[in-house]
Amino acid sequence: MVRNVGGFTLMEILVVVTIIGILAAIAVPSYIHAVEKGKEDACAANVQILLTQVERYRLEHGVPIELKANQTLVEFLREKGYLQGQDIQCPFAAGDNRHHYVLVTEGDRQVVQCTHTRGD
Ligand SMILES: [Zn+2]
Repeated sequence: MVRNVGGFTLMEILVVVTIIGILAAIAVPSYIHAVEKGKEDACAANVQILLTQVERYRLEHGVPIELKANQTLVEFLREKGYLQGQDIQCPFAAGDNRHHYVLVTEGDRQVVQCTHTRGD
């Protein structure tokens, strides 16, 4: 007769698998939530950077920004020297649809919005 030396019983393995499953069920949703929150915060920070430069442009030139046809806000600000360094893009943007930030006129001031929050 062969004796069971070492190794685990089926019951022990089931208990361990169940515990791992419970831990994963708790950890995975909160990880996904944290990633989403991080992206939202990064996008909001980008909007703030762009808004600061839009207001700076208006203060220095005395006129609101007029975008050319097919020109994005990021391209405009980069061309005028108001943005340097790394490209600003929404963390939710996929592929080559990179410039999600649009200029919106609200009353007599211009604000920046990200198209991902508008569902465009
Ligand atoms: Zn965005």
